[in-house]
Amino acid sequence: MSGCNCSGSCSSGSCSSGSCSGGSCSSGSYDNTLPPGMLAAYNLDQETADGILVYIETDGKALHPAVKGILGKAKEISSGRVFGIMFAGVSGKMLYDEIFSYGVDTLYHMRNSAVKEFQPPTFADAMADVSHRIGPASILFAATPQGRELAPLVAARLGAGLTADCTELEAEGRKLIMRRPALGGNILATIECDTFPQMATVRPGTFPDPIPEIGRKGTSFSRPYKATMEKRIVSKDTVDDDDDIGNARILISLGNGIRNRSTVDLAHRIAKKLGASVSCTRALVDKGWMPYSAQVGQSGRTVSPDLYIAFGISGSVQHMAGLRAERIVSVNKDRNAPINAVADKVIVGDADSILRSMLESLEE
Ligand SMILES: Cc1cc2nc3c(=O)[nH]c(=O)nc-3n(C[C@H](O)[C@H](O)[C@H](O)COP(=O)(O)OP(=O)(O)OC[C@H]3O[C@@H](n4cnc5c(N)ncnc54)[C@H](O)[C@@H]3O)c2cc1C
Repeated sequence: MSGCNCSGSCSSGSCSSGSCSGGSCSSGSYDNTLPPGMLAAYNLDQETADGILVYIETDGKALHPAVKGILGKAKEISSGRVFGIMFAGVSGKMLYDEIFSYGVDTLYHMRNSAVKEFQPPTFADAMADVSHRIGPASILFAATPQGRELAPLVAARLGAGLTADCTELEAEGRKLIMRRPALGGNILATIECDTFPQMATVRPGTFPDPIPEIGRKGTSFSRPYKATMEKRIVSKDTVDDDDDIGNARILISLGNGIRNRSTVDLAHRIAKKLGASVSCTRALVDKGWMPYSAQVGQSGRTVSPDLYIAFGISGSVQHMAGLRAERIVSVNKDRNAPINAVADKVIVGDADSILRSMLESLEE
């Protein structure tokens, strides 16, 4: 994106080359020249931009789980107000209390009765207009399929830089310090923008859900927006996301200590009985035993289950980088495996046999 500006490329020396790899922050040489009309059209005031605007993704009835942690983080690091923007029908009002309880001070409830579905260009136009009105220092999205599609469209309209798939966010006053794995996960790049708004998508599960402040009040604006409706949904398929490891409360996670491929099926049968999902280390993805979508870690997914049961996992730095579990149980034949040092409970034994016994007990 030509408007991207990574303070002299990737700051802090963690990003090796002159470019911000991996993310949408592409160009190391930035000459402050935006495509004609962009920044000027929105007249963003670089001197006064403040606060953080968060795209609040909903299904019309509930917040997307990935949004809550981002709202909590925005409240923690914002030097000004926390703004939310939500596209929803009248029923969206039912979500106000919850949204305010997570730290939003001002909510823009965007309404158009003709729009029933996610409409990326239309939403992007409306978001750019709201951004123009409030002049936020930063704009955050969850890196969900919706957020990944919408964020670049908004960035293009604002002529702003965008860092995709961040795994850490900090702030120094209005300045947003964004971090994300880069160069195939070999380094953690620190990326800064020196124009406003600074934009980022955040990997789901990165930040814990904030504790809601029940009864907290905020201001809401119900705003109509113009629909361009370039996209029409002709049919819909529901994807079964029972196995979405990002939302799982219990994860049975498999590592290189698993000796038989058939143990993977066994783990799925146990997971079904427990209402859990099955995740893994990169070792099992490399073997072709598990899909990449199940990989936890720096170059995989970030997960935050209540319970993570690790079978034959050593606990490499790269694996643990994606793990934010409440409790960890480690099943490992090596008493001194690194993961055992952070586990709440350690079971020393053979992973395949213990999984087999678990299934037998559950079936009984
Ligand atoms: C750039 C980069 C990015 C990476 N990204 C990721 C990532 O996102 N996610 C990820 O997971 N890895 C990632 N890795 C790989 C990572 O470095 C480790 O190699 C990997 O996590 C090891 O997986 P593991 O714990 O399953 O295997 P190992 O490290 O081989 O550990 C196997 C464990 O099983 C135990 N064991 C052996 N036999 C048994 C048995 N019969 N019963 C019980 N326990 C047994 C052993 O004691 C050991 O602790 C990355 C590496 C690089 C270089």
